[in-house]
Amino acid sequence: MTVRSERKLANISASSQKTAGHYATDITHRYPTFRDEPAKTTHNWLEGRRYDDGAEGLWRIGDNLYDLASFIQSHPGGPDWLRITKVIIVTNGTDITEAFETHHIGRRAEQLLPKFYVRPATHPRNVRLTFNEQGFYRTLKRRIRQRLDSIDTTPKKYSCLIVDALLVAVLVTAYLAVNFKSFILAFGCAVCVNATIIAAHNFLHQRDNWRMLAFNIAFLSYREWRVSHVISHHLYPNSLLDMEISSFEPFLCYLPWSSLKSSFQRYGSWVYGPFIYGAIFINEYLKRLKDSFNRGKNGFHLDDVIPFLLPIFMYATGQQSIGTVLQLWLFIVLMASLCFGLVGLSAGHHHPKALHSGDVFPEGWDFGLYQMATIVERKGVEGSLLKVLTTFGDHYLHHLFPTLDHAILPQLNDVFLETCHEFNVGKLSSSWFSQYLAQHWQLARIKSRRHMA
Ligand SMILES: [Zn+2]
Repeated sequence: MTVRSERKLANISASSQKTAGHYATDITHRYPTFRDEPAKTTHNWLEGRRYDDGAEGLWRIGDNLYDLASFIQSHPGGPDWLRITKVIIVTNGTDITEAFETHHIGRRAEQLLPKFYVRPATHPRNVRLTFNEQGFYRTLKRRIRQRLDSIDTTPKKYSCLIVDALLVAVLVTAYLAVNFKSFILAFGCAVCVNATIIAAHNFLHQRDNWRMLAFNIAFLSYREWRVSHVISHHLYPNSLLDMEISSFEPFLCYLPWSSLKSSFQRYGSWVYGPFIYGAIFINEYLKRLKDSFNRGKNGFHLDDVIPFLLPIFMYATGQQSIGTVLQLWLFIVLMASLCFGLVGLSAGHHHPKALHSGDVFPEGWDFGLYQMATIVERKGVEGSLLKVLTTFGDHYLHHLFPTLDHAILPQLNDVFLETCHEFNVGKLSSSWFSQYLAQHWQLARIKSRRHMA
């Protein structure tokens, strides 16, 4: 652990002592190992979990250990989901409690589990969140399970159609941009690329399917995102375990810790933020390249060639030189990345009213209540599947049940709101513009807030 993280650990302990017993300031007991390594890679994140989770080389769910190795190939969601959470050559596995709960709404997985039981875990869970049968999350899950039996699933085909249409739009605008040698048309293509990627995010949460590959068209990787977004950000939003938080440090420091950021970091993002957004896509690819080199192990897969299909298409169908095609393509990637940062980082979490690590909340809080407290949803997209799919809309329900297609979420809304009402928990939302401003106020924030049950 680095000196910096020890200082932070002292910070956490000090504030925990003030609130001893009943309240916590982060969802884990231990400061995450490797969190402050300069390389914010999914490999380091998983390695850290193996040190901290007490899974003893197996898969941990609650306080029990399971050996799911023989189940990997027959896992209905695809083998990657289990493979990424435990690597045989590393002695520790990880705690998959939150992933198991949110990814299995039906009872089948729970019923199969005893077949793979090995023994109870030696140490208590590192994550403080809980799943009590009568708590908010399990109650809501039971009701959602029942409702799923009677909903109309045909809207799911519109999600597929939207991704397909966006892919066509990417090709058409790229063709026009290169043939007219126009950066304005290239910007139009960038908007379509960004919309395609965000819409494809709906599909990377689901069992393996070809549309998740559309997520890779501009250097992002659905494989990496299944760790950094699905099992890091979704399960532990705004916490020390959230890679959406750690990946942007030290440039964008969302946690309200005075020791983490200088005045320049707190307010400078108004100016340098757009440059960071523009670099997101290319940086992801370079990070994988560097990580492969450092570890001496190839981190690339065949689907990592997908980003190069667009420039090949542009060269093959245009009447321009390689240099012109590369200029236009690079412009498309940078602009799509800028749009992605603008839309994604103000979609629902980085708001002063949203709970972040360092804020105070009840010890052993229900997983669902914690999730609710970390979200302030963006207004103005509800009612339109196209808008929801391309802006990370319907953020509450998507976070709580990520495998469900966005197209069917509106049919679950009444059950969700009813349960929220019963547990006295409300939804917060604000406009596009105020979300953008709020993101910057969150970057400037250094005062802790209290979130009560
Ligand atoms: Zn998601």
